Order: sequence, then C-alpha cells, then structure tokens
Amino acid sequence: MLQKKICMLGAFSVGKSSLVTRYVESIFGDKYHTTVGVKISKKELTVEEQEVKLIIWDLAGQDDLTRLRTSYLRGTSGYILVCDGTRPFSLKVALNMHKEAREYSGDISFVLIINKFDLQSSTDWELDQEQLSALEASGIEVLYTSAKTGDGVDEVFQKLTKKMLQEHNVLENT
Ligand code: GDP
Repeated sequence: MLQKKICMLGAFSVGKSSLVTRYVESIFGDKYHTTVGVKISKKELTVEEQEVKLIIWDLAGQDDLTRLRTSYLRGTSGYILVCDGTRPFSLKVALNMHKEAREYSGDISFVLIINKFDLQSSTDWELDQEQLSALEASGIEVLYTSAKTGDGVDEVFQKLTKKMLQEHNVLENT
C-alpha cells in the first residue's frame, strides 16, 4: 500500500493532537494535555479507489511559536497548517511555519484549517476577516474544522491526500 508521511503544523494548543485523535480514533478527549516529543499515528484511507496509509506526525514542543524544527519535515509529502479561530495570532504562526516549511521542503501539498469551529458563534471567536480574505485572494483555501464535534475533520485529511496523490501523479489532476 502507498504510504505518505504528513505533518501537523501550527501554534501551541490550536488542537493539532485533538484533530489527529479525532481522525484516527474518532474521539475527542477534552482534557488538557501537552504532547511531548513526536507522536506518530497511522490511518488508512481510500481516495478515488487508491488506498493510502497516512503516517501522521504530530510535532510537539512548538511552543516557542514561530520556529519550526525542519528536520521533522524530512520525507514528508504534505502538511496540515492548523489555526485556532479563537486566537488570531495562531494564523500568523501558521503562515510563518508555512514559509519555513516551503523553504525546507519546497512546494509540497498542504491545507490550511481553522479549528475549534464549534466556538464560532461564541464571543471567543475572533478571526481577522481581512487576513482571511487576503489569504483566499492569494489562492489559499481556508477549511474549517472542529476536533470536538468532528465537523470537517475527515474532509481535511481526504483533501490533503488527494492533493498529494495528484502531485505525485497517482491521480489525475482534476
Ligand atoms: P495542540 O497543542 O495543538 O496539539 O492542541 P491540543 O490538541 O492539545 O488542544 C488544545 C486544547 O484545545 C485542548 O484543551 C483541547 O481540548 C482543545 N481543543 C482542541 N480542538 C478543539 C475544538 O475543535 N473545539 C474546542 N472547543 N476545543 C478544542
């Protein structure tokens, strides 16, 4: 089976490990925990009849925010940039990591997501609409997820996998 390594990237506490747990184990543990080191999870999925095993690297110790440990990116085929809709600064962090990741890995597949979408109608939700519009104008699609409810989570991994397969010419570019 085709195997693809992907990395979760984003500021501290945006929900990276919760998203992986939701995707791989279909649960949400609403407990505060800090990932130590690297957690590697695996999940098989099928995209347009192509079976793929994702090797998902969840990078911890990113709490000094903007510096990405690029060695984690070695051999990766794609990455998920995670932001937290209740913390606008996390978008800046994600974009910084995106820049660094591109310097290291080149122009590989990625998706940008705004997590914690279950909080979108709460007063905590404070995304910078202008910044979002600028992103979309520059061709970066923004996806919304909630690790808590599961909304949008499968779609994100599907979408990234599809992009990776297209990039490696396993799937036709559509
Ligand atoms: P990480 O440091 O990026 O891996 O973030 P965690 O997965 O540890 O999540 C940080 C905190 O945010 C935890 O308290 C989670 O329970 C919470 N959290 C994660 N995802 C969501 C979500 O989609 N909605 C809500 N309401 N809380 C979330």
